[in-house]
Amino acid sequence: MSLEVSHLSKFYGNQKALDEVSFSATPGRILGFLGPNGAGKSTTMKIITGYLSADAGQVKILGENALENPKFVSPKIGYLPENNPLYLDLYVREFLEFSGGLYGMRSSHIRSRVEELVRKTGLSTEQHKKIGQLSKGYRQRVGLARALIHDPQVVILDEPTTGLDPNQLVEIRNLICEIAKNKTLIFSTHIMQEVEAICHDVVIINKGRILAASPLSELKAGS
Ligand code: ADP
Ligand code: ADP
Repeated sequence: MSLEVSHLSKFYGNQKALDEVSFSATPGRILGFLGPNGAGKSTTMKIITGYLSADAGQVKILGENALENPKFVSPKIGYLPENNPLYLDLYVREFLEFSGGLYGMRSSHIRSRVEELVRKTGLSTEQHKKIGQLSKGYRQRVGLARALIHDPQVVILDEPTTGLDPNQLVEIRNLICEIAKNKTLIFSTHIMQEVEAICHDVVIINKGRILAASPLSELKAGS
C-alpha cells in the first residue's frame, strides 16, 4: 500500500465533516473516491495533501507518517485541487517552470521536465499561450502537468473532469489512465459514470463516513 488513511476525523466548528475515514490505495490502480457534494471528499484530499489539519487519525504515504512529516511527503504527492486554481496571466510554460521551482528543482531539470510534460499532456500547440486564453479542457491539462512536475508517486485529483464537454472529457480520462500506469492515483468525483469509466477500485463516502470500499467489479456484481 502506498497510501493508507486511517480513522481520519475532522470538525469545522462543531460540525463533523469526517468521521473515522479509513481506506487505502494501491499503485497502478485508479481509486475512485465517490460521494455526493458535501460528503467530505475535498476535506479528505486536503488533509492527505497537507493543506488542512486533521483532528484525529493518520495518513501513511510510502510507509511514512504524512501528518507528522510534511517535508518528506510533499515531494511524493501531486495534487490537482477542485476548481484547478491557475494563474491566468502566466504563459503555460512559465507557469509550469514556476511550479517546478516551488519544489526546488534545478532549472535544467525543470526545462526538460516541462518539455516532457507538455508533450505527454498534449499541450504542444498551447504551450506559448497565456493560461487565460485556454479552454477548460486545456486548463485541466495544465493542472495535470503542474501536479506531475516533480514526478510524484501519489497523485490526487479532486473532481478533475467536472464541467468538461464530451470530447474534453474523453481526452482527460485517457490522460488520467496514462498517468496512473505507474502511480497511485485517487480520483475524487460525485459522478458514478466517471468511476465506472476509468477506476479499478471504489471508496464511497457520504456524510463524512465510508460506506463501502472494494474493487469496482465487486461493487457492480453486488448491485
Ligand atoms: P465534498 O468535497 O464531498 O463536496 P467537503 O469536504 O467540501 O465535501 O465538505 C464536507 C462538509 O464540510 C460539507 O458539509 C461542507 O459544507 C463542510 N465544509 C467544508 N469546508 C468547510 C469550511 N472551510 N468551513 C466549514 N465547513 C466546511
Ligand atoms: P466542495 O464542492 O468541495 O464542497 P465548495 O464549493 O462547497 O467545495 O466549497 C468551496 C470552498 O469553501 C472550499 O474551500 C471549502 O472548504 C469552503 N467551504 C465549503 N463549505 C463551507 C462552509 N459551510 N463554511 C465555510 N467554508 C466552506
